[in-house]
Amino acid sequence: MRPAEKTLQAGDYTVLVQRKAIKNMYLRVDPVSGCLKVSAPRHVSDAAILDFVKRRQAWVEQAFKKAQAKAAKPVRTFTDADRRAFRAKCAAALERWQPLVGKRCSGFSVRDMKTRWGSCNSRSGHLNFNLKLLDMPAECLDYVVVHELCHLWEPNHSKAFWAHVERVYPDWKRVRKSMR
Ligand SMILES: [Zn+2]
Repeated sequence: MRPAEKTLQAGDYTVLVQRKAIKNMYLRVDPVSGCLKVSAPRHVSDAAILDFVKRRQAWVEQAFKKAQAKAAKPVRTFTDADRRAFRAKCAAALERWQPLVGKRCSGFSVRDMKTRWGSCNSRSGHLNFNLKLLDMPAECLDYVVVHELCHLWEPNHSKAFWAHVERVYPDWKRVRKSMR
């Protein structure tokens, strides 16, 4: 009977082998330990496992690269101090741009959003701004503030909407492009 768990060496890689009551072999990368993990049926030999890993060499290298890139990029978390600082920036930008846009919001929130820089509830007049703008050049927040305020004129992205943006913030195209 083969041990349930053992390690093998496949070239540069340490392979942690777990033998289980399964039908097929499975390979995965563990970015924390830097190990490869193989789950294999109990009857499969060490040689067959090493061959299995060898045939997936290209996939293994890609998987490690991806895992490392992800580990190198720390997830940005926002502290209460960050939130306060960002709120103050938004408030200042709103004071500056509201008279130029010719609309006032009823209030605003700062949120850590995944897909949008800002949003506008055109019915209530409430705006949301993405906390990630805190780490970006001030012109980005300016553009987003103008954009969301202009939605108080036009809730959609019609020609009339962009005409408002253009009037207040003529450089909007360049800034918008830099944020993609
Ligand atoms: Zn919009």
